[in-house]
Amino acid sequence: MHELSLLEGVLSIIEDNADTQGYTSVKKVCLEIGALSCVEPEALRFGFDIVMKNSVADGATLDIVTMPGQAICQQCGCETKVFELHTPCPDCQSFSLDIQSGLEMRVRDLIVN
Ligand SMILES: [Zn+2]
Repeated sequence: MHELSLLEGVLSIIEDNADTQGYTSVKKVCLEIGALSCVEPEALRFGFDIVMKNSVADGATLDIVTMPGQAICQQCGCETKVFELHTPCPDCQSFSLDIQSGLEMRVRDLIVN
């Protein structure tokens, strides 16, 4: 389950932030997941409490926002939103979409005490 290693990455971002911003506990973590990232929100929720235990984010609630991906069609040049990989261009039906975003996961917001 690669969600656990993603969450460990999230935790290190939170801890770095806690150091620089000087807070000691996090109330809420909001994660943004690209629709093409293959991250399972359920797996994230499942792993969150385990990974955050005994950290500054112990007991924090988790909010997950899924963002559609953005792609540019290499055939006709149109920009389109994509919700899964291997979708055709809505204009010309070409499969040569150049994915611009949607593969990543990032920390969108932290609510601290
Ligand atoms: Zn196209």
